[in-house]
Amino acid sequence: MEKEDAELIFETSKGVKPIMSFDEMGIKDEVLRGIYNYGFEKPSAIQQRAVLPIITGRDVIAQAQSGTGKTSMIALTVCQIVNTKSSEVQALILSPTRELATQTEEVTLAIGDYINVKAHACIGGKNVGDDLRKLEHGVHVVSGTPGRVLDMIKRRSLQTKAIKLLILDESDEMLSMGFKNQIFDVYRYLPPEIQVVLISATFPNEMLEITTKFMVDPVRILVKRDELTLEGIKQFFVAVEKEEWKFDTLCDLYDTITITQGVIFCNSKKKVDWLSQKMRENNFIVSSMHGDMPQKERDAVMQEFRSCRTRVLITTDVWARGLDVQQVSVVMNYDLPNNRELYIHRIGRSGRFGRKGVAINFVKADDVKILRDIEQYYSTQIDELPLNVDDLI
Ligand code: ADP
Ligand code: MG
Repeated sequence: MEKEDAELIFETSKGVKPIMSFDEMGIKDEVLRGIYNYGFEKPSAIQQRAVLPIITGRDVIAQAQSGTGKTSMIALTVCQIVNTKSSEVQALILSPTRELATQTEEVTLAIGDYINVKAHACIGGKNVGDDLRKLEHGVHVVSGTPGRVLDMIKRRSLQTKAIKLLILDESDEMLSMGFKNQIFDVYRYLPPEIQVVLISATFPNEMLEITTKFMVDPVRILVKRDELTLEGIKQFFVAVEKEEWKFDTLCDLYDTITITQGVIFCNSKKKVDWLSQKMRENNFIVSSMHGDMPQKERDAVMQEFRSCRTRVLITTDVWARGLDVQQVSVVMNYDLPNNRELYIHRIGRSGRFGRKGVAINFVKADDVKILRDIEQYYSTQIDELPLNVDDLI
C-alpha cells in the first residue's frame, strides 16, 4: 500500500519540464551573476525542475537526493523573489538546526551579493539584542530556527506582513513531532496568501498527507525511495559483535577516515563526549559537537572543521541534515541511526554534488536486523567492509 502511494505521487511530477540552463529561467541579471560567480555553471536536476515553479509563485514540494543542490536552490530563489529596494522581510526560511540556518544565510548572502541582499540568521543561542538591531535596520531574508523566529515575531521585531514566501528546508523534520507546533505557530502569523515551499531528501508519506493543510495545489517533485541512495556513496558494514569492540575497530579505521575528512555519528550527546575523550586519550585528534555545547563552541567547531583544520568530527544527529562540507568523504555510524530517514541524511554528509563517499556502519549482532531493513527499504546494497576501502575514496 505504502509503495503504491509513493509511485502514484511520483507520476504527478512527470509533467514538470526540466530547464537546462540558469539563463533560461527568467532570473534577474544580478542574481545570475551571483550564481555563476558562486561557481554554479549548470542547474542540477532538482534545480532544473523546481526553480521555475518556485520563482513563479507556486507552492512546491521538492524532493531530491542529498547533496544535489536543494539548499542552494533556496538561496538562489529567495534572491530572485525579493525586492531589495524595499527594506521589509519578504522571505522566511526555516531549518531544524542553527548551523544549517546559518549556512543558508551565508549562501544567500553570497549569491545575492550583486543585488545587495540583506539576509539574517535568526537562531537560538545568539544574543537577542543583535537580532533586534539587525531586524530594525531592515532585512530581506530571514533564515532561522523556529524558536527564535517565533520569539522575534511575537516581539514584533520580525514583521511578517510583507513575507510572501515561506520555505521549510528539511521539511519532513520540520513537520515532525518536535517542530510541528512551532511551525504552525509561525505560519499563523504569516499573510494568508503566503507561498509555501517544502524541501527535503526524505518525505515519508504521512508528511505528504499533512501538507494539504497549508499548501494550495503544490507542484510535487518526488523521488521513489529505491532511487534515493546515491551511486557515488558506497555503503559498508563492519561486524563488531558487541559494543565494547567498536572502539578498537574505530582506531583501526582512523587512517581511512582522515584521508580527506570524516564524520562519526553517535546516538547520544553523552556518547559523543565519551568517545571524543577516549579518542583524545589515545592521541587521536578529533573535533566534537552536540546540542548541549554553548553556541560559541559549536561555531568554533564548525569553523575548524569547515576550514579543514580538523579532519574528524564526532557528533550527534544535530549534524545529520543539510550541513555541507564538500571534503567529507567518509561517514561512520558508530551507532546505527534511530530511523530510516536519518540514515539517508547521515550518509549524505559525504558524496556532496557528485563526489565520492563511503559510509561505514558499525553493526552489533543485534543490529543486523536494522541494517537489513534499511537495505531493503531503499533497495540498496550494504556489503562487508573490504580491506582496500581507501581505494574507494
Ligand atoms: P542539498 O541541499 O541537496 O543537500 P546543497 O544545496 O547543500 O545540496 O548543495 C551541495 C553542494 O553542491 C554544495 O557544496 C553546493 O555549493 C553545490 N552545488 C549546488 N548546486 C550546484 C550547481 N548547480 N553547480 C555546482 N555545484 C552546486
Ligand atoms: Mg540541503
